[in-house]
Amino acid sequence: MITIIGAGAAGNYAAYLLAKQGFDVQVFEANSSIGKPVACTGILTSHFDTLIEMKKELIANEISSSRIVSPDGSAVKINFRKPNKILHRHMLDQHVARMAIEEGAKYYTSHVYLENRNGKARIRNLKTEEEFETEYSMLIGADGPASKVAKNNGMYGNRTLYLGLQATAKHDNDNVIDFYPGEQGIAWVVPESGSTVRIGVASTTGISDYFNTFCKKIMGEEYSEKIIEKQAGPIPLYKPDIKTSKEDVYLVGDSATMVKATTLGGVMQSHLAAKALARSIIERKDYENEWRKVIGRDLWLHLMMRKAMDKFKEKDYNYLVNIFKKDSNRKILEENDRDFPTKFMLKLALSEPGLALFSRFLI
Ligand SMILES: Cc1cc2nc3c(=O)[nH]c(=O)nc-3n(C[C@H](O)[C@H](O)[C@H](O)COP(=O)(O)OP(=O)(O)OC[C@H]3O[C@@H](n4cnc5c(N)ncnc54)[C@H](O)[C@@H]3O)c2cc1C
Repeated sequence: MITIIGAGAAGNYAAYLLAKQGFDVQVFEANSSIGKPVACTGILTSHFDTLIEMKKELIANEISSSRIVSPDGSAVKINFRKPNKILHRHMLDQHVARMAIEEGAKYYTSHVYLENRNGKARIRNLKTEEEFETEYSMLIGADGPASKVAKNNGMYGNRTLYLGLQATAKHDNDNVIDFYPGEQGIAWVVPESGSTVRIGVASTTGISDYFNTFCKKIMGEEYSEKIIEKQAGPIPLYKPDIKTSKEDVYLVGDSATMVKATTLGGVMQSHLAAKALARSIIERKDYENEWRKVIGRDLWLHLMMRKAMDKFKEKDYNYLVNIFKKDSNRKILEENDRDFPTKFMLKLALSEPGLALFSRFLI
């Protein structure tokens, strides 16, 4: 029996791929409803279409361009080769869980993982408060940023967690995703419809002040009246030396810190890692090698960019946005997918000598 802890992006996709190959799979999820509460903006680049067929009802909006806005207010507009999708994130999780169930996976919601020892996981049913043990041949920790599976099995490490705070709010917009990188972290405004946005910030410090100041800047003094609902959640910073397997225990997704350190997005990476995990189990390959081959170098490059950005002052962001405004540089960004910077960073560095100035931040 393969036991998966967590019915989020990573857990559901691993459950689907493994059940489809005939493995006995059970998934334990602490929440009573899969995908809820939501703590995700749901932006996905078009590469996601190669993984999962997107049903229309999962998509809240499609957007063809983004702006990177610098602290001095200037912006570069990037037109995507293919539109980004803005998903109803809970519906994506529920959709993939249904795919897994159709392939034979068993799901238990309101069931929280407590610990594991000698091939048995201890689970508590939150509805009855009963505890029981279940045997496993493999235990997959897909239990998110604060992973208990990682903690209990000595794989948590000394990780950094960002906090993301966002709101759905009434706000007229021109259907462009706006990113606001800055000294405190990143902020975003993502249109859900012509009159509604998902507006949020992520940082390691002072999140409430950051959120309130940003909302006021975008929506004006009366911003709190425009807010429909708020969501919050931790986001791990990628740790390149993280151990993701130990004997019969594996980590995948946020539990293994597989998040892009620049934009703090991890839904695509969770699915790609789940696919690598399923492949390594089916083909008896080394999991660490498999996931690193697919996303390791890109995650590392995102982390290097984040390390440089952490030392940026406002003037550095202003300079960077100006560099991206040059036609030749903007084109490189437009032709490539931001999930995979290894495919274009060298090209960009060669096209723009000014970028070399930023390498001093890595020393
Ligand atoms: C505000 C915010 C906005 C974001 N926006 C984006 C975005 O636009 N695009 C993007 O790609 N990424 C975004 N992310 C990141 C993205 O949400 C995560 O990278 C992604 O959800 C990781 O999937 P996962 O399956 O690893 O973890 P999760 O989706 O967190 O799933 C983990 C699951 O495990 C369950 N669980 C935890 N502990 C236990 C336990 N002990 N027992 C049983 N179950 C347990 C949880 O309830 C949860 O359902 C955002 C994050 C935040 C906080």
